[in-house]
Amino acid sequence: AEVTDMGNSSGFPQVLIQAQRELLNYSGTGISVLEMSHRTSDFSNIINTTENLLRELLNIPENYKVLFLHGGGTGQFSAVPLNLIGLKKDRCADYIVTGIWSAKAAKEAEKYGKVNLIHPNLDRYTSIPDSSSWSLNPSASYVYYCCNETVHGVEFNFIPETKDVIIVSDMSSNFLSRPIDVSKFGLIFAGAQKNIGCAGVTVVIVKEDLLGNALKECPIVLDYQVQAGNSSLYNTPSCFSIYIMKLVLEWIKSNGGAEAMEILNKKKSSLIYDIINTSNGFYCCPIDVSCRSRMNIPFRIGKKEGDEALEKLFLDGASKLGMISLKGHRSVGGIRASLYNAVTLEDAQALSAYMKEFLKDHLT
Ligand code: PLP
Repeated sequence: AEVTDMGNSSGFPQVLIQAQRELLNYSGTGISVLEMSHRTSDFSNIINTTENLLRELLNIPENYKVLFLHGGGTGQFSAVPLNLIGLKKDRCADYIVTGIWSAKAAKEAEKYGKVNLIHPNLDRYTSIPDSSSWSLNPSASYVYYCCNETVHGVEFNFIPETKDVIIVSDMSSNFLSRPIDVSKFGLIFAGAQKNIGCAGVTVVIVKEDLLGNALKECPIVLDYQVQAGNSSLYNTPSCFSIYIMKLVLEWIKSNGGAEAMEILNKKKSSLIYDIINTSNGFYCCPIDVSCRSRMNIPFRIGKKEGDEALEKLFLDGASKLGMISLKGHRSVGGIRASLYNAVTLEDAQALSAYMKEFLKDHLT
């Protein structure tokens, strides 16, 4: 039976089949991308095509650089302050903390400057407090937020307003799941492994005029100016991961681009939220309706804090039907349905049908 991974990967079947087909002989070169030097014209073609596709799909303005870096999203938790916290003399930054990923990013930034945590005292991450209650610092070097908190399922459906302070956003788990206005940001980054490829490469989209402000202690591989000046080839890039990203972007383009992904992701997530909302509390999603994620839907079963025996039964049954990786993150428990671009409408329909069935069998 076909297995649907609702967890942490982008298993686009067509992409994997194509990658397999050309694994030993990429585009008539007689070698695999795995064997290819990053200094060859064949690899230049791959990385340039990948960049052009990203520029086209997200309408990236010309005054932005696109970088393909190592180190994952976590690497960017360090790279962002190392490159940008020195933009203004106070060396401080505002971090809007809405879940574990923005909390981790803020903690890392504290090594390099002053960090102002916006609403840090939430006991649980289930909402985005009204922006009128945020106390943003006008002399901050940047305002940082995580656009989609993967573990908690809290997603921004708006871009925060700031006055003359650049915005930095971690889009690791909702990148290219919807269109975005890149011109509103100073910097966007996203690890590839959720929506646009596999682990090993992280996309950084950065406004050109922010380059050249790295702190002295910034490791050279994380220095945006150095990487931009070398077209991401200062050191050996993650060639194969970049190639996989190219295939995924080609797939997204031929399936209608970011706009089409948004329509699909709205439909997929509505299928699941509709059942949660009409289950009389049998399925319980603690996240405020206004910031419920289209990508990651955490929920508990049986009661608000979750009936663990029932949840185990749910996961076992799902696994028998070929739906895997539905277990919630270890820090929150329960169930989490991740509906990244590679998850099809049919996959989401299968999950919603199973949820309906399970509800019927277990509602007492
Ligand atoms: N940011 C977000 C929103 C994430 O979901 C993750 C990982 O899941 C990270 C950052 C960390 O990414 P990495 O594991 O690539 O360092």
